[in-house]
Amino acid sequence: MIDFEGNIEKLYSIMDKCELCPRKCKVNRNKGQKGFCRTSHKIFIASCNTHIGEESPISGSRGSGTIFFSNCNLNCVFCQNYPISQLGNGREMSFDDLVESMLRLQERGVHNINFVTPTHYGAHIAKAVYLSRKRGLTIPVVYNCSGYESVEILKLLEGTIDIYLPDIKYSRDELAFKYSGIKNYVEVNRSALKEMKRQVGNLTLDKNGIAKRGIIVRHLVLPSIFENTKNALDFIAKELSTDTFVSLMAQYHPANKAHEFKELSRCLTEKEYEEAVKYLEKIGLENGWVQGLNNED
Ligand code: SF4
Repeated sequence: MIDFEGNIEKLYSIMDKCELCPRKCKVNRNKGQKGFCRTSHKIFIASCNTHIGEESPISGSRGSGTIFFSNCNLNCVFCQNYPISQLGNGREMSFDDLVESMLRLQERGVHNINFVTPTHYGAHIAKAVYLSRKRGLTIPVVYNCSGYESVEILKLLEGTIDIYLPDIKYSRDELAFKYSGIKNYVEVNRSALKEMKRQVGNLTLDKNGIAKRGIIVRHLVLPSIFENTKNALDFIAKELSTDTFVSLMAQYHPANKAHEFKELSRCLTEKEYEEAVKYLEKIGLENGWVQGLNNED
């Protein structure tokens, strides 16, 4: 039996010396201090809307109820949402409004509540889901994250999250440090993915093909670094299982500061993406999604 109220209390108290993510800034967010994610206890969101661009079991026919938080605990040089994640674009929202927004999205008929860039808001999310459930929220809750997550915090979110939608961005720490300013992404990310899988298992769908519970792992193929993709996919196949649902993303384009890095300053080629898809199939990862490629060198 999960002690939701106890877990919420722990999550809020962790913000006294914030360790809500593996950055462990130890600032007192409850008193208004801000760490790497530039976020105090106040909620800032960039958007709250129906979204149809996610993987088909998430968006379905009626869309995903997306709540997109401002700021982020990463700092990726190629972030395609950097005005939101790094410049903090968004508006303040009260906690009560967050709960009301979730219930309104459900009334609109969306298939799920999809928290995008949720990591630095783990405490707020746990409480908002708990209170929304008491008021009639029945649709699944999606945790749509970069994969740089603390296992201890994920354990406190067990039972709150139905569907994990994490990235596996890097399979070498040098790349994570160079492009996202993190020294220990690989081990932290892999432990987090294993914990997510332990909690919710493989993806399960309802009779209409809509996600009910489980994990979908996303990997954005970066140009010029096939080894990164190969090792990420190997980890999924060997350590999570070959029936894991994988979303192999092709939409890389050189946003934000990517032009400062020669190897990242172009779009992915068709050949590079095809190579990634072939490898995915070769190692038996048959569940999930690959994309068409609209860009070329
Ligand atoms: S959530 Fe923000 S303040 Fe807390 S440890 Fe992570 S980056 Fe630092």
